[in-house]
Amino acid sequence: MQHRSLGKSGLKLSALSFGSWVTFKNQVDDAAAVELMKLAYDAGVNFFDNAEAYAAGDSERIMGRALKRLGWGRDTFTVSSKVFWGGKLPTQRGLSRKHVRDACDAALARLQVEYLDLYFCHRPDLETPIEETVRAMHELVMAGKVLYWGTSEWSADQIAQAHGIARAMGLTPPTMEQPQYNLFVREKVEREFAQLYATIGLGTTIWSPLASGILSGKYAKGVPADSRMALPEYQWLRDELESAEGQARVRKAVELGRLASDLGATTAQLAIAWCLANPNVSTVILGATSAAQLRENLGALEVVAKLNTAVLERIETIVANKPAPPPRY
Ligand code: NDP
Repeated sequence: MQHRSLGKSGLKLSALSFGSWVTFKNQVDDAAAVELMKLAYDAGVNFFDNAEAYAAGDSERIMGRALKRLGWGRDTFTVSSKVFWGGKLPTQRGLSRKHVRDACDAALARLQVEYLDLYFCHRPDLETPIEETVRAMHELVMAGKVLYWGTSEWSADQIAQAHGIARAMGLTPPTMEQPQYNLFVREKVEREFAQLYATIGLGTTIWSPLASGILSGKYAKGVPADSRMALPEYQWLRDELESAEGQARVRKAVELGRLASDLGATTAQLAIAWCLANPNVSTVILGATSAAQLRENLGALEVVAKLNTAVLERIETIVANKPAPPPRY
């Protein structure tokens, strides 16, 4: 396993990490969670991603029970939660000081840990001043409940504002952002955040490297009954898959598959390796519903070295979505 600094922080995360969105509870029970987390950990994965919103807290409960059973030393792994969608009541949502604190305590109880290594604001909250959220996160850091805090799907401006407020007021600034990044979604990571890597040393823990499985190539043959696209609660994902844009993505995944097989890799491995090839990516969060998927995806580490200029150009021709170069100031 390769390790990378989380932005300019001293924390070294495994280049591949493991998350539980959709999967834990809906597709992965306690026994499977233990199996998958052990497989990941034994391969060198040291970061496990979660959120209060995942399966309404059950994803964190399953991960917490798995961590208890696995009994790993607390100094050998990192675990995250995210705050934003806690419940239906106004006090249970968003990024107010109150919900940030309540959600942290609830996540700690569900995960059965004394502190969160990483704690994310799951989305921006336009109804709460950024200063209030920065101070709330700083207080959790001071209380020893959170080590590094960050954002998810915030704009570059919002992240820069949070950072500026923290610096001006002597509070802990955000360390990392969790954006979607894959061969179909590139704008934020490659263009919008370009300044932030250099100026504030932003780290990135990127999500959906396979665009919810499309970049495994499997959807060219229809939707398997056991896949997330077949879950009734995730009909919106299936609607996206069946849209004109979704079907264009499926066709591109088939073309990427031909290139992958020339390299002796699978489509999923090529797609994940392509994310890893970006040095501004601190860690690629994998999702998997079976040991076979996870084993295959962990194999992406060996494919990175095969992505030479010619291969990267062939990929660009297939996906045809290279963002414009970032603006220079
Ligand atoms: P991916 O895009 O990699 O999708 C993972 C899913 O694709 C698996 O659950 C599986 O679904 C399918 N799959 C994975 N590998 C293979 C394979 N080799 N062959 C065939 N199918 C495969 O990642 P996720 O969307 O799961 O995101 C990863 C993590 O990122 C999440 O767990 C979460 O921690 C984080 N995340 C964060 C978000 C945020 O807003 N901050 C949003 C979304 C995710 P199946 O078997 O059902 O087909």
